[in-house]
Amino acid sequence: METTPAFEGLRCVDCEETFDPDEATHRCPDCDGILDPTYDYDALDVTRETFESRRFDSMWRYEELLPFTRDSAVSMNEGGTPLVECPKLADEMGVGEVYIKDEGRNPTGTFKDRGQTVAVTAAVQHGAEEVALNSAGNAGQAAAAYAGRADLHSHVFLPSRAGFTNKAMVNVHGGDMNIVEGRIGDAGAAYADAMDEHDDWYSVKTFVTPYRHEGKKTMLYETVEQLDWEVPDAVVYPTGGGVGLVGMHKAAEEFRDLGLTDELPAMYAAQAEGCAPVVRAFEEGRDVHEPWDAPDTICGGIEIPDPGASPMILDALRESDGGAVATSDDDILEAAAVVAKREGVEMGATCAAAASGAWELSEQGEFGEDDTVVLLNTGSANKDADVIRSHLMSKGI
Ligand SMILES: *Cc1c(COP(=O)(O)O)cnc(C)c1O
Ligand SMILES: [Zn+2]
Repeated sequence: METTPAFEGLRCVDCEETFDPDEATHRCPDCDGILDPTYDYDALDVTRETFESRRFDSMWRYEELLPFTRDSAVSMNEGGTPLVECPKLADEMGVGEVYIKDEGRNPTGTFKDRGQTVAVTAAVQHGAEEVALNSAGNAGQAAAAYAGRADLHSHVFLPSRAGFTNKAMVNVHGGDMNIVEGRIGDAGAAYADAMDEHDDWYSVKTFVTPYRHEGKKTMLYETVEQLDWEVPDAVVYPTGGGVGLVGMHKAAEEFRDLGLTDELPAMYAAQAEGCAPVVRAFEEGRDVHEPWDAPDTICGGIEIPDPGASPMILDALRESDGGAVATSDDDILEAAAVVAKREGVEMGATCAAAASGAWELSEQGEFGEDDTVVLLNTGSANKDADVIRSHLMSKGI
């Protein structure tokens, strides 16, 4: 494998055993826990100048802190997204500054590209020819795109309620698309059956591959660098499986431990009231979630009733002194419309949970008046313009 010099291997977050990345490809061979890439940070000689001296053109500019070399990456220059200042939002929320990290400007329109570029690179290095996953939509589209670029065949399992753009683009990228009646869990069951039948399919599913959260670390690296190495006070993240949240918290710890920064941003998980297992577990002081019984939200990307990495998410929220917040679909869609109208930034429906969540947190007095608050716009509104437009219609507009 073409790994980077400091990349050591994969450590199981449950039994803490470590494995050679040539041999362990997905979950822990001993206990089926989540595997997490580890590095020899002492061997790394990176400073702020190391990164500042590079063009801001791709997330792979942080290759020292990623498992694979930039040269070997299956990449479309994902990442390097803008951090857009939103003064009107800052005013309304009563904080110093609000920024939106605009992940809509990625190759397939969401931050899922940051996960798939690393996961598909790993698939190539492991000699896979077929990749597979189930997804609410965006990860499936991203996987089909990166698989196509790497000459791999992709098998994507989407629930019938996935958005039209996702379904169309899986086809356009040449993926094998399987629409499963129902929701993400139903698509997951169909995917699991298919995986049982096909020994040679390589999973690029959330927290089954160790590499998706690794790619998403780069959102935090970029944000800190874009703020001239100032760590934001709060980061609000629309949370489903928590891949990005876990990744960004890891990234914040890495930058701090490397001496590039000296604190951690408070991480906040924003969910929809119709499916908020992480918020409930956080509020009840639990270390692990309980599956949400009847998930029901229009925000497909965060309608994840049984997020397997909830212990990692809850750890990140508590270690960083952050929190969790749930808002209604109506408030979420309203936030998408208000941000688009007032700041111009096009937040996807799911993504706007970060904005409505931040509003709610500001009303709860969670932020200080000088705080810098970063909202993750995980994907572009283009993917669900119709959903946001219908919210206006429901108000007679
Ligand atoms: C997948 C997705 C999320 C949730 O991401 P996790 O890291 O799994 O919590 C949020 N927003 C959008 C647009 C997504 O596609
Ligand atoms: Zn283990």
